[in-house]
Amino acid sequence: SLTAGIVGLPNVGKSTLFNAITKAGAEMANYPFATIDPNVGMVEVPDKRLDRIQELIPAKKVVPTTFEFTDIAGIVKGASKGEGLGNKFLENIRQVDAIVHVVRAFDDDNITHVSGKIDPVDDIETINLELGMSDLEAVDKRLAKVAKVAKGNDKEAKAELAVLEKIKPVLEAGGSVRTIEFNEDEQKIVKGLFLLTSKPILYVANIAEDDMADPESSKYFDVIESYAKKEGAEAIAVAAEAEEEIAQLDDAEKADFLEAEGVEEPGLNRLIRASYHLLGLETFFTAGGKETKAWTYRAGTKAPQAAGIIHSDFERGFIRAEVMAFDDLDQYESEAAVKEAGRLRIEGKDYVMQDGDIVEFRFNV
Ligand code: GDP
Repeated sequence: SLTAGIVGLPNVGKSTLFNAITKAGAEMANYPFATIDPNVGMVEVPDKRLDRIQELIPAKKVVPTTFEFTDIAGIVKGASKGEGLGNKFLENIRQVDAIVHVVRAFDDDNITHVSGKIDPVDDIETINLELGMSDLEAVDKRLAKVAKVAKGNDKEAKAELAVLEKIKPVLEAGGSVRTIEFNEDEQKIVKGLFLLTSKPILYVANIAEDDMADPESSKYFDVIESYAKKEGAEAIAVAAEAEEEIAQLDDAEKADFLEAEGVEEPGLNRLIRASYHLLGLETFFTAGGKETKAWTYRAGTKAPQAAGIIHSDFERGFIRAEVMAFDDLDQYESEAAVKEAGRLRIEGKDYVMQDGDIVEFRFNV
């Protein structure tokens, strides 16, 4: 399954955020990862659509979907030059499918900052530079190999060489691969290079609790947001310490806390959803009967493979999918009314799943 890795300089609030995530997840019945790997946390994807479906098509149980976060602790500065620990840090990042980059955006004289000042852009660049240096090394190695082959008439090698030569100067200038524009063919080649700075990234500003209600008022969030925009990435603000407290409250206490803070929902929820989309994940639903359930699939998945996520028999014996969009159910308020409006669809094996589809699969056993 896909996982988002939490990265950041020491003392910026990574563990606090990870704890908030795992505490929110610890309520879940039995999540198997807790005992296997303390650095991996499962989290439920908060989705208000589930409540609405339950209201309209009541089921005995409602089951949200989940995905994984990985806490990537370890040294940062000098990682690309270091042996051992540094390599391990980079290797751990290589394993994740998307990067959640936590940046300190709160003042607190009691908490030491590794470089002695709060400068979010400097912090971000410190890490991105280490990742970029590691990528540059990988690109140079690959270049040496591919250049030889490309001297012949090998088309593939020539194409890869061109991509590597496009990437190299950007890395040399301290930039990230994700800032480069590639066409579709180039993108395939880039994917195969497994570079750290080509992974999708989300910047998380760890803001002061006082700024929770209005993150835009945080002077630090503003610069982080502009930095992200330049990279074509997203930035969100979360007050990690407050989120850790919120995650431990029951629903009633949570509502009180949020009201007192003047916020609509925990920042953690926004972080979870943004990370889910960053990973290219989407949700379909099965509704009614024993349980109404949210299921995770990768964007672009076709109906039979989506059926296979529920059970391999569903994929093997796939006949068709009966689909209604969540928005249609929301509007017409019952399956019968959706059908009457001509909005209940029969889809075949080439149908590409859409986020929010409510599906019943038909299959041969
Ligand atoms: P990590 O090294 O990045 O994992 O950072 P930690 O999560 O261990 O946090 C470092 C210190 O900063 C701890 O003492 C936290 O309690 C504190 N901290 C984390 N988030 C916040 C925050 O939002 N505001 C304040 N004032 N302190 C925080």
